[in-house]
Amino acid sequence: MERTDREIRKSERLTHLKYDIRGPVYEKALELESQGYKIISLNIGNPAPFGFDAPDEIVHDIILNIRNAQGYSDSRGLFAARKAVMHYTQTLGLPGVTINDVYIGNGVSELILLSMQALINEGDEVLVPSPDYPLWTTSVALCGGKPVHYRCDESADWNPDLADIESKITDRTRAVVVINPNNPTGAVYTPAVLEGIARIAEQNRLIVFADEIYDRILYDGATHHHMARFVHDTLCISMGGLSKNYRAAGFRGGWLILSGARQQAKSYIEGLTLLASLRLCANVPTQYAIQTALGGYQSINDLVMPAGRLHKQIMLAYNRLIAIPGVSCVKPKGALYVFPKIDLSQFRIADDNEFVYDLLTEQKVLVVAGTGFNFPNDGHFRIVCLPSVDELTIAMDRIEAFLESRRL
Ligand code: PLP
Repeated sequence: MERTDREIRKSERLTHLKYDIRGPVYEKALELESQGYKIISLNIGNPAPFGFDAPDEIVHDIILNIRNAQGYSDSRGLFAARKAVMHYTQTLGLPGVTINDVYIGNGVSELILLSMQALINEGDEVLVPSPDYPLWTTSVALCGGKPVHYRCDESADWNPDLADIESKITDRTRAVVVINPNNPTGAVYTPAVLEGIARIAEQNRLIVFADEIYDRILYDGATHHHMARFVHDTLCISMGGLSKNYRAAGFRGGWLILSGARQQAKSYIEGLTLLASLRLCANVPTQYAIQTALGGYQSINDLVMPAGRLHKQIMLAYNRLIAIPGVSCVKPKGALYVFPKIDLSQFRIADDNEFVYDLLTEQKVLVVAGTGFNFPNDGHFRIVCLPSVDELTIAMDRIEAFLESRRL
C-alpha cells in the first residue's frame, strides 16, 4: 500500500478516553455562540472569567520576578516554592516532609498524569471515585492501566463507600485516589472515612493519591482533614495548587507532596523524579508566586464566609434546585459545584445526556452530565457556581422552566 493512502490514526489508548467538561456538548455550545446566541456557561471551574481575580500580591510577584524567571529551574521546582509548600505541610501537622518530598508542576493536571506514568504497568488497576474529576480516570487509562471505580454514596453525603473500595481490590490494584473536597459533589469527607481508606491502603500496600486542590474552599464551618495525616505505613501523595484557592488557574501552578512510608517506594520516587526531569521544570514565573500565595493573606476565606460571594452563589444554586419538585441535591460543604439529581420518572427526559443537550439547545444553559464524571447515566448533572448571583438566578430560572416543560 502507498504510504500516502494511510489514515493518520490516534493512539488506540485514546479510543475510550473523553473529557466531557470540554467535550461534544461544549463544542455545540461554541457553535451556538458562533451563531450569535449567548450561552450561560456553567461547565468549567475557571474563576477568573467570572470576576474572581487572583490576589494582587501573586500577580505582583510574577511581574516583579519575570526577569529572574527566564531560565529553567530545578526539575522539582524553585527552592523557595518548595520550602513554602513544605512549611505549609508543617502548619497542617504533617510530620517529616522535607523539601525533597515536594515537586512543583504546571498545575495539578500535569502532576496527576506524571504520577500515574511513574506507577502503572499495562493492566495495573487504580481505584478511582465515582463520580470523579475525570482526569484521574483518563490518566490511569492513558498509561495503560485500568481505572476501577468505587462508589461514593449520595445517601451518606457522598462519602466513599469503604466496603465497595475493599471489595474491588485485586492483586493488580496499585493505588486508591481520594478527591477531597470533592469535584463534582462538593463533599468534604469525615475523618472516619479517611482513616478507613488509609487502613485499607496500608493493608494492601496501595499508594494513596489525595487530590486536595479545594482544601481551603469550605462552607458553613466544614472542616477539611488532609489525607496525609492518616497514612503512615504506605506512600501518600497529596496535591494542591494555585488554580482554585488562589483563583489563578491560568498561571498553571501546582504541587505534589510525598509523605508516609517513602522508604517502601524508593523505586517509584526515582521514576517520578526521572519524569519530572524529562519535562525539565514547571513554568518558572508562576513558581515565584507560590511562596507568596501560601504565606500571604488568604482572601479565599472572605469569599467562602456566609456573606462572601462564593458562599452566596453556591447556596443560591442549591436552594433553587431543591425547591424544584423532582430534583434533589446534597448540600455542598466545599469546592465550587453542586451535583443535583433529577428524578427521571417525573419528567420526559431519557437520561442525563439528553437533559444536558436539550437544556443547551432550548435554554442556552451549559452544564455537564453526570456521566462526564464516570457516574451512571441516572439524571445527575454538575453546575459550576462561579457566575454572579444575578446570572445564576437567570440560569436557575431557565433550568426550572426547562424541567417544567418536560414534567409528566
Ligand atoms: N483536581 C481537581 C479535583 C480539579 O477539579 C481540577 C480542576 O478543575 C484539577 C485537579 C486541575 O487543576 P489544575 O488547574 O491545577 O491543573
